[in-house]
Amino acid sequence: MRNPKKRAGLCETAVFIANSHFNSQICTTLDEIEQKFAKKLEERYDCLAVPVPCDGPNEYWEAETMTAKGLISMKHAAVLCGLGSIGKSSLLINPEYGNRLTIGAVLTDLELESDALQPDLCIDGCSRCVDSCPVQAIADRRVNQKLCRTNTYGKTARGFDTVDCNKCRVVCPLRFGKLG
Ligand code: SF4
Ligand code: SF4
Repeated sequence: MRNPKKRAGLCETAVFIANSHFNSQICTTLDEIEQKFAKKLEERYDCLAVPVPCDGPNEYWEAETMTAKGLISMKHAAVLCGLGSIGKSSLLINPEYGNRLTIGAVLTDLELESDALQPDLCIDGCSRCVDSCPVQAIADRRVNQKLCRTNTYGKTARGFDTVDCNKCRVVCPLRFGKLG
């Protein structure tokens, strides 16, 4: 019997309109969860709590290199919280959920302890993500945003947004988490 944790049709489908639509919905859902969570934190602990948009909107935009940055780097915050390591693909890899996590954050003045840092989870000698990128956008665990964006983000004839590439995610042997 198939392990449902190892199926991810929405990630792997070539029906990119479905992929991009539900991907953006996940961000909206996550933002709502963050907002409710921040409110609860303030009520329960008498602290300050500020939800951070998990994707857009963001203010930083460098037009020439098409580089966007959020208020904080969700990926780096996740690494410091012990949620995973950054793979050669530049995607966050979590031991249980692989590279399929969307990260949200709430900033607070509460003093919290982080979990232990994860080791580098990439497989020795693997370079599938780097090798499979159709525009050679990945190097040194970073993505050249201009190359990636130009290749990846499109629109249908009617103007709906599409995300036309997620090769670096789907070729990764760790996309469903740590092997074994
Ligand atoms: S999404 Fe596609 S273009 Fe962008 S880094 Fe991954 S493989 Fe390369
Ligand atoms: S494809 Fe290989 S090198 Fe790339 S992130 Fe996954 S394990 Fe690391």
